[in-house]
Amino acid sequence: MMSKLFNLNTITIVAIALIYTGCKAQTQTPRTTSISNNTTVEAKVDSILNLMTLDEKIGQLNLPVSGDITTGQGKSSDVGKKIQNGLVGGMFNIKSVEKIKAVQKIAVEESRLKIPLLFGMDVIHGYETTFPIPLGLSSTWDMELIEKTARMAANEASADGINWTFSPMVDISRDPRWGRVSEGNGEDPYLGSRIAEAMVKGYQQNDLSANNTLMACVKHFALYGASEAGRDYNTVDMSKIRMFNEYMEPYKAAIDAGVGSVMASFNEIDGIPATGNKWLLTDLLRDDWGFDGFVVTDYTGIYEMMAHGMGNEEQVVSQALNAGIDMDMAGDSPAATAAFVKSLKTALDKNMVKIEDIDTAVRRMLTAKYQLGLFEDPYKYLDSDRAKNEVFTTENRAFARKVGAESTVLLKNQGDLLPLKKEGTIALIGPLANNAKNMAGTWSVATQQDKSNPFLAGLKTVVGDKAKILHAKGSNLDYDLELEKRATMFGKTIPRDGRSDKELLDEALNIADKADVIIAAIGESAEFSGESSSRTEIGIPQVQKDLLNALLKTGKPVVLVLFTGRPLELVEENENVPAILNVWFPGSEAGLAISDVLFGDVNPSGKLTATFPRSVGQIPIFYNHKNTGRPLMNEEGKFEKFRSNYIDERNEPLYPFGYGLSYTKYDYKNLKLSSDTIGTNGSIDVSVEVTNAGNYDGKEVVQLYIRDLVGSVTRPLKELKGFQKVYLKKGDTKTVTFKISVEDLKFYNSNLDFVAEPGKFHVFVGTDSTTKMMKEFQLTE
Ligand code: BGC
Repeated sequence: MMSKLFNLNTITIVAIALIYTGCKAQTQTPRTTSISNNTTVEAKVDSILNLMTLDEKIGQLNLPVSGDITTGQGKSSDVGKKIQNGLVGGMFNIKSVEKIKAVQKIAVEESRLKIPLLFGMDVIHGYETTFPIPLGLSSTWDMELIEKTARMAANEASADGINWTFSPMVDISRDPRWGRVSEGNGEDPYLGSRIAEAMVKGYQQNDLSANNTLMACVKHFALYGASEAGRDYNTVDMSKIRMFNEYMEPYKAAIDAGVGSVMASFNEIDGIPATGNKWLLTDLLRDDWGFDGFVVTDYTGIYEMMAHGMGNEEQVVSQALNAGIDMDMAGDSPAATAAFVKSLKTALDKNMVKIEDIDTAVRRMLTAKYQLGLFEDPYKYLDSDRAKNEVFTTENRAFARKVGAESTVLLKNQGDLLPLKKEGTIALIGPLANNAKNMAGTWSVATQQDKSNPFLAGLKTVVGDKAKILHAKGSNLDYDLELEKRATMFGKTIPRDGRSDKELLDEALNIADKADVIIAAIGESAEFSGESSSRTEIGIPQVQKDLLNALLKTGKPVVLVLFTGRPLELVEENENVPAILNVWFPGSEAGLAISDVLFGDVNPSGKLTATFPRSVGQIPIFYNHKNTGRPLMNEEGKFEKFRSNYIDERNEPLYPFGYGLSYTKYDYKNLKLSSDTIGTNGSIDVSVEVTNAGNYDGKEVVQLYIRDLVGSVTRPLKELKGFQKVYLKKGDTKTVTFKISVEDLKFYNSNLDFVAEPGKFHVFVGTDSTTKMMKEFQLTE
């Protein structure tokens, strides 16, 4: 798998001689001239390894954060000196070719072995050109589009000196309290796996050594999205059978797609932190799945094992290395007292680790650098012309506008209020109506926040002089100033308006009074979700709810344009607001993208990839749940005593997985199977006719689910096993065909064997996960 990625750039003797000039072998005699052009990467790596001191070896495993590196003073900085001494393997989150070049120069011109550095960054949903947050991107269900976003991000980031990204994040999550639900692809392992593959392909392109690709890093391995109570970094505890059937598939899909690196997660698994979990990082990842890239910790992950209760500095460092960690992220920072660079040597002296295992980790790091082509040319990602010409281009921004529109999900559209007409007077009201800094959403470290297109500006451009636009802020983000501060960190401010709540509201009502239609731009700010932004209540902040209710009271038509990084609890809004368009955080071209949808230039086609609950009390809530021994017996979902339900709430969510409306209407008919039996190696075709029966052209995500009726272990009521996004002009009908093979029917049984068991299956096809259109087939012996 990984060998496909090798571009065996032959290192010439001249280059090798350059690398080795001035070297003093500490452990073995240098082989300065013995490498031929045909030598394998392994041999080249070994030849360097043989020259390295123990400190230099440990240095290769060290990944400091950029810290005090600034242009022109790299050398004199603390980290600059460490690089000179060969004590650093890579750095992350330094931005700009100029700065990165200065740092790489120290490594390859001033360190003894001249080993180039890796430069990593959280390029998560775009680089400077930012696409919707991953949860929004996943709502497009469009793998080509998602791959293209990763491709474009890789192109921009590599043009700006980066060669490694900490993406894709593929943690399945069923808990919208968890802030990082925004960074993932929702709750489904099948869809999550397709997205994992698309992202890895987009970043790496099967050629890591090209100067416009990045090495990807799948994260957070593993199960980080299942933290108890949705509280970030919290304990995870789950059975192996659930782990394998419901959470592991997307990580494995990334490995199978050839991802170059893996990031260990912060949480524990089976009582052992992932960072020190040998079963996870070696037995499963390497021995079973065949991964041969390198594993990096998450930020200070080794140090954090002390707080987890795994022992002292030497113990946690040894446990991490012995488990299979190769690189230590941010261990070098002053706050972290346990780190490879701080304690690995002592651990070796005390025989807590073996030199062979340190060597293995170093080999993996050097191999990655070969794969990236850095030994051939350490400056290959450092071309200032590319940085000038290929980042945040008009073309890329046009694509971001398209993707932003594609990711929106129409949640309600009573009386076909949307699309709006470009006429009359439109009032745009809300704290997110005229704000650039929040449009890119969380985890957008390379974005120039001020350059994002605010909603108001986009609206004015799209409407032109056809309608009059009025604007008022309406309210602050929240009544609670402290919460507001926490939710607007990292420069993503929504400056607090000095006027009183009443004054803000009066101004809003005043312009609402003059308008034909009101657009309420409200919801979360970017940092309401993301890392360390868990919530116990997941509604729209109260001050904005009050604003919305006041606007509804005017009796004018109100469109709620909802900004959010997570599924929100929207029962009241769903009840009272005629139209709701969920736009997540749409990225650099937010205002234009949203306006394209509002006025029908783009027909919304996004579908939810995470369930929107009716109440926090229903969490965790997800579509692919089991039946229980006491399911509800009535179709309407009414309360039944001694059945599995709540006395005070219904079981079903507000908006289910796969849900999303369109300006048009799709009819499904003629669900057919090519056969009603499938043999042990066979497959069947499932076809359905989909008609665009409404008045707009559009795209529909046709979804296929199966249910395994009887199993040796309990099976979910529905599991997504296929989807196709089809374009249909109004009036058109298409026959959409899926193939179901025995592979699709497999699951992990109680011995953790991956098997398909003969018996009856139901196949469902439809517009979302609640579809009842169904046929039965049988898997024969
Ligand atoms: C996050 C990772 C991220 C890393 C580096 C950590 O806090 O959990 O997702 O890649 O920081 O910025």
